[in-house]
Amino acid sequence: MEKSKKGKKPYDYLVVGTGIFGAVFAYMAKQKGKTCLLIDKRPHTGGNIYCDSINSINVHKYGAHIFHTANKEVWDFVNSFVEFNHYINSPLANYEGKLYNLPFNMNTFCKLWGVNTPAEAMIKLEEQRKNYADIVEPANLEEQALKLCGEDIYNIFIKGYTEKQWGRSALELPAFIIKRIPFRFTFDNNYFNDPYQGIPKGGYNKLTDGLLEGIEVRLDTNYFYDRDYFDSLAEKVIFTGRIDEFFGFEYGELEYRGLHFEHKCLETDNYQGNAVVNYNERKVPYTRIIEHKHFEFGTQPTTVITHEYPGEFAKDNEPYYPINDERNTVIYKKYKEKADQIPHLYIGGRLGQYAYFDMDDSVEAAMNLAKKELK
Ligand code: UDP
Repeated sequence: MEKSKKGKKPYDYLVVGTGIFGAVFAYMAKQKGKTCLLIDKRPHTGGNIYCDSINSINVHKYGAHIFHTANKEVWDFVNSFVEFNHYINSPLANYEGKLYNLPFNMNTFCKLWGVNTPAEAMIKLEEQRKNYADIVEPANLEEQALKLCGEDIYNIFIKGYTEKQWGRSALELPAFIIKRIPFRFTFDNNYFNDPYQGIPKGGYNKLTDGLLEGIEVRLDTNYFYDRDYFDSLAEKVIFTGRIDEFFGFEYGELEYRGLHFEHKCLETDNYQGNAVVNYNERKVPYTRIIEHKHFEFGTQPTTVITHEYPGEFAKDNEPYYPINDERNTVIYKKYKEKADQIPHLYIGGRLGQYAYFDMDDSVEAAMNLAKKELK
């Protein structure tokens, strides 16, 4: 075991994982005069917000990341490292070759039903969902969607997309997934309801680099290859990887939905005119095509697009979406209880907390931990 001269371990904190949770915690710890060592098994920092620069375009290597939040403290915090641009996410949905605006709003209703006013849209929607009005507590995603949106919207935009995204029937999925999709009666294509939104000018790596400036980081370093050694380096461990892996899967494996990305460079300056286009038909194997330059209003002569394919998660590929159903929730709680018994350990972040976190949730969770821990 490595010890400093005073008998203390060399660092106050070992932070496993340099994603947004770990990086925010480490930054705040440093502000309070604590020492941190960050390790990451990947060859780069930033976790899933990391961008590759291809032909001067920031490519969201692990899927589209759009920062949005209602938390002013979180927004001010991230803006203190890098200025954010005025990007507003307004994805399109492609269904049988026709394009519709998302989220569901007057533009969508107009194209779908030929209605021009909110009153006309309301009447149409009521008609569409009247058969499902009796559902009080939706038992699954299908019931939730039919109750909220009625048949046309469910069948065109939700059923196919959701079933391919999650690899299971909408009858087996929890209702809360669909609560993420806002619904409006204005001609407003802004996907998010949050008051603050944007992409870091110059890309997400600037945010990570700002957070980690002056903090020791070891890349290509896997905690599990020698955990006794890494534990011996610091008084406390902040672990941001998979909680089930941390405990050797002793209560079973938590399930995830996997994703697979195919990045392509194209000799055109503008492929689809929008950063995000969803493909809602079940038979199209990918869920969306991302054209990265549009996140930053890029004017480069070429473009990079990414087809996003959902798929089974298997060992050795990246765990993306937690599947927060009953079975997994029970297992997670057991791991969480076990983690809470260990005083020098905190397990956090999207994988550690087995939660469908947006980036702002991760920042907030790390800030809260830091406030509690570093009083
Ligand atoms: N969804 C859908 N149709 C769409 C987009 C989303 O049915 O065109 C559903 C789907 O179940 C998905 C959920 O809404 O899993 C959340 O999607 P969103 O794109 O907001 O989340 P992300 O995958 O980007 O985290």
